[in-house]
Amino acid sequence: MKLLFGGIEAGGTKFVCAVGNAAGEIKEKTVIPTAAPEQTMPQVIGFFQSIHSKTPLSAIGIATFGPVDLNVGSSYYGYITTSPKPGWGHYNLLGAIRGKFNIPIGFDTDVNGAALGEYRWGAARGLDTFIYVTVGTGIGAGGMVAGKLMHGLIHPEMGHLLIPRDRKQDNFAGICPFHGDCLEGLASGPAILKRWNVKTAADLPENHPAWELEAHYLALAFANCVLVLSPEKIIFGGGVAKNRQLYPKIREKMQKILNGYIKHENIQNKIADFVVEPGLGGQAGICGAIALAGQSYLKSQTSSFSR
Ligand code: ADP
Ligand code: ZN
Repeated sequence: MKLLFGGIEAGGTKFVCAVGNAAGEIKEKTVIPTAAPEQTMPQVIGFFQSIHSKTPLSAIGIATFGPVDLNVGSSYYGYITTSPKPGWGHYNLLGAIRGKFNIPIGFDTDVNGAALGEYRWGAARGLDTFIYVTVGTGIGAGGMVAGKLMHGLIHPEMGHLLIPRDRKQDNFAGICPFHGDCLEGLASGPAILKRWNVKTAADLPENHPAWELEAHYLALAFANCVLVLSPEKIIFGGGVAKNRQLYPKIREKMQKILNGYIKHENIQNKIADFVVEPGLGGQAGICGAIALAGQSYLKSQTSSFSR
C-alpha cells in the first residue's frame, strides 16, 4: 500500500503545505502567506481537503513556530501559546486541523520537525542524539536524545542561550525582547543587520568582521550544546547559514573554545562531519512535517495493534 502524508510547515511569514510519501518525496506543495488565522487556515485546510477527497491521506504532520504546548496531557496541547502575531497567541492550531480531518495528526515545533526529517532522510540518519539549529529571523533548535525528539518541560529554547561576551569587542545591546543579548538577540539575521546598520546580509562583504563575530557567537552556543547534550552532530541551517564561510569558521572556533577537553575524534579530527549543513537543504522543514505525519501514523497503528 502506498501511503500518502500531509505536512504543514507553519512559519511566521508563510505556511508551506505539502503532500509526500513515506520516503519523504514531495508530490504536491503550496505556499500560503501567514496572515490572521481566519485567512490562512481555510486555505491550508482547503489544500488538504481537495487532495484528501481524491487520494486519502494517512496522517498530517504540523511543524510549527512557537512557543507551543506539546504536553499531550494539557488542555492547551496543540496551541501556539504566546505569539505577538495578531490572532496566533493562544491559537489552537492542532484543533483547527483535527476538527477537519479524522486521521492521526502529528504536532511538534518546526525545529523538532526538521530534526525528525533529517533523522529519517538527511544528515542525522543512523544517529540517536543530535541537534538541528536554524539561524534566520530567529534562532531555534530542536533535536533528539536517545532516539526521541526532545520535549521535556516545554521544548528546548536553545536560541535564547545566554553566552559570554566581550563588550569591548561588541557593545551591541541585542534585540531579544526578553533578554536583550541572548544568542538570538546577538546573532539572528535581524541582529546582524541592526548591529552593522545594513539592509541585507549582501551589504556585508565576505571579509567584513560581522562574519567572524557571528561565527564566534554560534561557536560559543554550539560548544555549550556539546557540553550539555553530548550530541553526535550539530546540523546548522536557516537563512544565515547561506553564508557558507560560517561553517569552517564555527568549526575552528568551537575547537578552540573546547580546547581539547572533549576527547573524541569527531570533535578533534573530523569536525567537518560534526557541524554540518542540513542533508535535506531548504526542504528540511517541510520534509520534517511529513516525517511527523509518518510518526503519528505509526503510533496510531501500534496503539490499535496493542489494543
Ligand atoms: P525565517 O527565519 O523567517 O524562516 P530564513 O531562515 O530565510 O527565514 O532567514 C532569514 C534571515 O537570513 C534574514 O535575517 C536574512 O538577513 C538572513 N540571510 C539571508 N541570506 C543570507 C546570507 N546569504 N548570509 C547571511 N544571512 C542571510
Ligand atoms: Zn532571548
